[in-house]
Amino acid sequence: MKLNFCSLSSGSSGNCYYLGNEFHGILIDAGISATSIRRFLKNMDISMQTIMGVLITHNHIDHIRGLELLTRKNTLPAFTTHKIWKSILTPKKNISPDSIREIPLMQKFHLAGFDIEAFPVCHDAPETIGFHICAGGKKITIATDLGHICQTAAPYIKAANFLVIESNYDEQMLVNGKYPHFLKARIQSDHGHLGNHQTSAFLAENISDNLSIICLAHLSKNNNTPAIVLQTLQRTLSEKGIILNGQQRISILNRNIPTEIINLID
Ligand SMILES: [Zn+2]
Ligand SMILES: [Zn+2]
Repeated sequence: MKLNFCSLSSGSSGNCYYLGNEFHGILIDAGISATSIRRFLKNMDISMQTIMGVLITHNHIDHIRGLELLTRKNTLPAFTTHKIWKSILTPKKNISPDSIREIPLMQKFHLAGFDIEAFPVCHDAPETIGFHICAGGKKITIATDLGHICQTAAPYIKAANFLVIESNYDEQMLVNGKYPHFLKARIQSDHGHLGNHQTSAFLAENISDNLSIICLAHLSKNNNTPAIVLQTLQRTLSEKGIILNGQQRISILNRNIPTEIINLID
């Protein structure tokens, strides 16, 4: 069996992730243009016809930029909660009514060979969710916008074999940077984003041998760099005396360039 993951784009400018087996695929968020999504998939030899749906985490533009065109041109079903749909479906958004699928919180549903569960996270949108997806005996958790790791989200993050988790900003860069005070406070709040030290500390506390791949995601353009993210995690793990086993990998997701396809089943 094949189980492939690819990040098409990750960060405050746009998020879109692909997960697929040999038959079908799904997208998580559509935060880049529909044209870019189609082009990136084509470059990886993935046919748009095999995409069975898009899961939406919340209504911020870096997660729904391409949603309107994707649903209209490709009649792609889109899945999110009632509350998030209410926040997306403003008079300006022309989402095809045929595409709207409501999903419950913390209850499994099945789509194209994937068992999917949405869980709530703390973020400054009307509602924000992460996804826990089981397929091919693997557990995948995607949590990209969260101010802190609350008690409802933590079990889904700890259970993952493959984890995509936010590491948005370097605390020093944010504090010393040019953002206005209100924006710094918003980002650092419990409903903002996860900083590198927050994510690293949680991982150092909770990492187990079951977690084989950690993808650090949703990096800020102005307040972070891939090198700092990696250094922070490596330093935090080594301070705790944690040495990764030979099967475990850390990957930093690019902001604008798709990653290689990552095969989750050896
Ligand atoms: Zn975001
Ligand atoms: Zn957001």
